[in-house]
Amino acid sequence: MKLFFSDTQLDHRPKQFMVHGRIVDPFENPDRVTALLGALEPLELAPTEPVDFGRAPILAVHADHYVDFLQEAYDRFMELPSHGPEVLPSIHAYRGAGPDLAPRGPPRPTGILGRAGWYVGDMACAIMEGTFRAAYASAQAAIAGAEAVLAGEQAAFALCRPPGHHAYADRASGFCFFNNAAIAAEILRRSFAKVAVIDFDTHHGDGTQAIFYARADVFYGSVHTDTSAYYPHFAGYAEETGFGEGEGANLNLPLAFGADDEAFVDANHRLALAVQAHGVDAVVISAGWDAHKDDPLSRLSVTTAAFARIGEVWGKLGLPTLIVQEGGYSLAATAEAAPAFVAAFREAAAV
Ligand SMILES: [Zn+2]
Repeated sequence: MKLFFSDTQLDHRPKQFMVHGRIVDPFENPDRVTALLGALEPLELAPTEPVDFGRAPILAVHADHYVDFLQEAYDRFMELPSHGPEVLPSIHAYRGAGPDLAPRGPPRPTGILGRAGWYVGDMACAIMEGTFRAAYASAQAAIAGAEAVLAGEQAAFALCRPPGHHAYADRASGFCFFNNAAIAAEILRRSFAKVAVIDFDTHHGDGTQAIFYARADVFYGSVHTDTSAYYPHFAGYAEETGFGEGEGANLNLPLAFGADDEAFVDANHRLALAVQAHGVDAVVISAGWDAHKDDPLSRLSVTTAAFARIGEVWGKLGLPTLIVQEGGYSLAATAEAAPAFVAAFREAAAV
């Protein structure tokens, strides 16, 4: 099993993140990578530097004007009088965040503040000098992983950081700029008629859901913390089942605050059954470790043992699989949960 990662992904080192009205040090920082790489090393998962597959696979998911915005945002923001250290808009356009949010044309504002307010959905996405470079490299790790699966690898791990599942086709939010899992799923569709994106990060992957909401060829299934009082708040509800041709190809299994290992594992079992029922040929797993009870963002009671158990669930499925790194903000919990999952997955899948 190959692991794809590039040091360029460390170039995103934001200084600001707003939690409950306070600006704090971002939880999503390069130390997460160090913890993950160290924890996966005993499994003989050493990083492979992805080759650059260019912009085309990114543009298969994201609007070109959004990609251009991410590339130019920092330089333009620095031209504002009395600017802060990084792009952190003080306004946000009302666009909704529901599952029917379709990508639109470029926004009316030409000024950088209005454009940032349009393209950046919340205050977890500060853009600094290296952000575009790091997000682009993170997407390339997912692309390289998907290409490896297309080339015949039964499984691969894309150590994507910054993460991706909250990124919409034309909007950054929740630490995410490019939707790495969606980009990978789109690549897998070249050879596989039906692909599933499975997401057990503790946050609902609202960006991924929106991208595939009207499509039958990419199934999205998520187990996550109930969003009625939890990020991403505006999507992730059980009644969101898809739209048009995608009706029935979206499955949300929200868990109540405090849910334990049994509830978490059972929901993963239900997702696996749904994947089989949909006749899926290949799987992208949006893997976050932030359901762990020790994660600073977790509201669940999930332990390391549960990650081993779900590793077995997804390995047993026996489908070509790309694991894509999403959240996980306790370095200690991540260093336990990720190798527990990967080891169990590999044993069950015999890869
Ligand atoms: Zn998360």
